[in-house]
Amino acid sequence: MARVVDDVVIVGGGVMGSALAYWLTRLQPGIAVTVVERDPTYRQASSALSAASIRQQYTTPVNIRISQWSLAFLRQTAEHLEVEGDRPDVGLHEGGYLYLAGADGAPVLREAHRIQRDYGADVVLLEPAALTERFPWLAVGEVQLASLGLSGEGWFDGYRLLTSFARKARAQGARYLRAEVVGMKRAGDRIDAVLLDDGRRLPCGVVVNAAGPWAARVAEFACIDLPVRARRRTVFVISCPTPLADFPLLIDTSGFWIRPEGGRFIAGIVPSEDADDLPLEPDTAPFESQFWPALAARVPAFEAARLERAWAGYYEMNTFDHNAIVGPHPDVVNLHFMNGFSGHGIQQAAAVGCALAERITTGRYAAVDLSALGFERILEGRPLLELNVIG
Ligand SMILES: Cc1cc2nc3c(=O)[nH]c(=O)nc-3n(C[C@H](O)[C@H](O)[C@H](O)COP(=O)(O)OP(=O)(O)OC[C@H]3O[C@@H](n4cnc5c(N)ncnc54)[C@H](O)[C@@H]3O)c2cc1C
Repeated sequence: MARVVDDVVIVGGGVMGSALAYWLTRLQPGIAVTVVERDPTYRQASSALSAASIRQQYTTPVNIRISQWSLAFLRQTAEHLEVEGDRPDVGLHEGGYLYLAGADGAPVLREAHRIQRDYGADVVLLEPAALTERFPWLAVGEVQLASLGLSGEGWFDGYRLLTSFARKARAQGARYLRAEVVGMKRAGDRIDAVLLDDGRRLPCGVVVNAAGPWAARVAEFACIDLPVRARRRTVFVISCPTPLADFPLLIDTSGFWIRPEGGRFIAGIVPSEDADDLPLEPDTAPFESQFWPALAARVPAFEAARLERAWAGYYEMNTFDHNAIVGPHPDVVNLHFMNGFSGHGIQQAAAVGCALAERITTGRYAAVDLSALGFERILEGRPLLELNVIG
């Protein structure tokens, strides 16, 4: 069978670009894959600043499928990503997500639960009494219902996943180029070449936009309007003197999230100011005013909590519908997207990388059908709405 493509240029070598480079070189040995990455230290890349957690608790079937597929991969990274005897352990810890809902949110949680069970997610609903029994450190208060992932949810070392994908991709023949993409040469319905800041011009059979929070700028090079914006999120690192057993990733009715990390906890809130491209410095002001009171009310042991430090990263927010945009553009047919993951990308990288590599090399999705995430829905004004978005 004739090959659909011989050479691919990937703009951005974060977890998305590197997962794709790994899958392309695994599925089609000998394919020429060039990953153009302007900062190999990944100082500002979302993949290096992520909370790196994975959940099954979505309401969109395609997101549940992606998570299930990615989880199976994460459980076996040592086998998949081994290079010269180094078997990377991404430290997957299946600690579960616990969503809390008051009177308003309870019906949504029940509906989400029905969908998740239909798609085989290992989740259970807990009434207040069961919640107290299971998590005695929790102040149930106005909570009427909770949803807990019993398996298949938790957290891992996201940076290790990124570097392991990149290392394996290189070992399989992918080339990483340190440069910035500053333009594209478009001819009709195709991109002929990618232009670099050092003056080089890279001809390409296929181009993939994997530029994370900067993806809209890359799309502009092809005169395409991509509704993805860089939205700053601050992560608080907190210590708590009281040991709290079996602490999951908790999502509170007020919107904050918190989970264990090493001997401490990491946490975040939905910021009240959410402008595009804010400087990548943590905003700790809401810790005292907004976050800590809500946290101490929910888990009284955190009254003695201390903010140890904080960092900030960008969500690559899809402002159209908060879901990923994946696959070729309908009018620029050799330009593919893997963008707009809106805070749930690192957990989706393994599955999306595989599915998009199949789409590029064979013309069809096989592992997971990602058609629902295609660019068409943006052009047609058909949002793919997900009820469980973590701000
Ligand atoms: C605080 C925070 C918490 C998060 N928590 C979670 C979570 O719990 N679970 C989860 O699944 N996801 C989470 N995410 C989201 C997840 O981290 C991202 O979805 C994912 O890392 C996106 O990967 P990426 O490769 O697309 O982007 P990035 O990692 O940002 O990589 C893009 C790369 O493209 C490069 N680049 C950009 N433009 C150019 C150019 N013109 N030329 C060359 N190179 C270019 C950049 O240098 C960068 O390295 C979180 C994100 C943040 C910020």
